[in-house]
Amino acid sequence: MNLRSLDRAPRAERYLVRADLNVPLQDGEVRDDTRIRASVRTIEHLRGQGSAVVVMSHLGRPKGQVQEGFSLAPVARRLSELLSTPVRFAPGLPTGSDARTEVLRLGPGEVLLLDNLRFDPRETEDDPGFAAELASFGEIFVQDAFGAVHRAHASTHAICAILPSYAGYLVQEEVLALDRLVDGSEKPLVLILGGAKISDKIEVIEHLATQAETVLVGGALANTFLHARGVPIGRSLSESGELDVARGLMRRFSDRFRLPSDVIVSRAMTEGGHAVNVEEVGSDEMILDIGPATRRIFREAILPARRLFWNGPLGLYERDPFAEGTLAVARAVADCKGYTVVGGGDSAAAIAASGLAENVSHVSTGGGASLEYLEGRTLPGIAGLLER
Ligand code: ADP
Ligand code: MG
Repeated sequence: MNLRSLDRAPRAERYLVRADLNVPLQDGEVRDDTRIRASVRTIEHLRGQGSAVVVMSHLGRPKGQVQEGFSLAPVARRLSELLSTPVRFAPGLPTGSDARTEVLRLGPGEVLLLDNLRFDPRETEDDPGFAAELASFGEIFVQDAFGAVHRAHASTHAICAILPSYAGYLVQEEVLALDRLVDGSEKPLVLILGGAKISDKIEVIEHLATQAETVLVGGALANTFLHARGVPIGRSLSESGELDVARGLMRRFSDRFRLPSDVIVSRAMTEGGHAVNVEEVGSDEMILDIGPATRRIFREAILPARRLFWNGPLGLYERDPFAEGTLAVARAVADCKGYTVVGGGDSAAAIAASGLAENVSHVSTGGGASLEYLEGRTLPGIAGLLER
């Protein structure tokens, strides 16, 4: 996809940058700063050329109201540290009078962070009036919030119709990485799909599975496929409303779909588990991970991949007794010499926790955004950046 790069943007005194600083907070501090780090390059570049930078982001779902627990104040502190310069911050409504005053005070090379865009209900309504208020804060709009480009919101979509709009470095990098995956011709292409819900992932499966040689399925997603195939899954998490969809996908892609042959089961998520053949799940048991034989089979399928995409943990990886399958897959992906991409919030967290993220070609900062991009859609936050 050919995006208008920030490198070709005209010089301006003030740039308005949409970043995705939606990070997990704990006791008023940033728990994981991956997304803040990812936003630094674009901001540094603009400061470096002597421009003022107004940065904006959402955080969580404050439902259109100013709520202190959803303030970006801790993010402003962390961003200051990462930029090694004080970041000004305007708490409260992102286009309120305090914010407007701060914008006017901003000098060359200075950075201001607006507070949570979703404090204003007009943000998620893609309201042109709100977009116009934001647009008055800069001369040029820079889209760098890859994690939010699948949303048609005022700060990601409506604003592109008002200001000259350019793609920041993170958005460019993500799009390049995902394009390389889908536009490539190296074979085999291997897909690894796990996580919770089939309904979130049908379109990606349909789009990518047509190209892929191998589709490895694990996690609760596999439970739905097993269930659809008539294998008893006890009390496992599955989507009984999606059985027909699952059957349809298995019929279309039967030559490449691989479901677990053994699994880790337990009567309770809080207890440990044991491995059984997939046909032997008890009626009072839950499937919570892929078993050791499946891990070996999946590893053998992963290693020769020339292109690989992984989304969704293979089990209830948040609990140690059920994290082994996800870890084994993370190791295999890290050992794969092909072009490897990991997308999805939980999948990215799992690969980061395993310490293997460095060995993956690209870890996407966008969960929903990377999936929707891979479905082949032109996303609302990107449509306005396309080179005509
Ligand atoms: P991602 O964020 O990478 O797209 P999802 O959000 O789709 O992934 O799924 C992640 C969730 O799926 C995790 O919370 C994980 O515990 C859960 N999960 C995976 N496998 C199972 C399973 N067998 N039983 C219950 N939950 C599971
Ligand atoms: Mg998730």
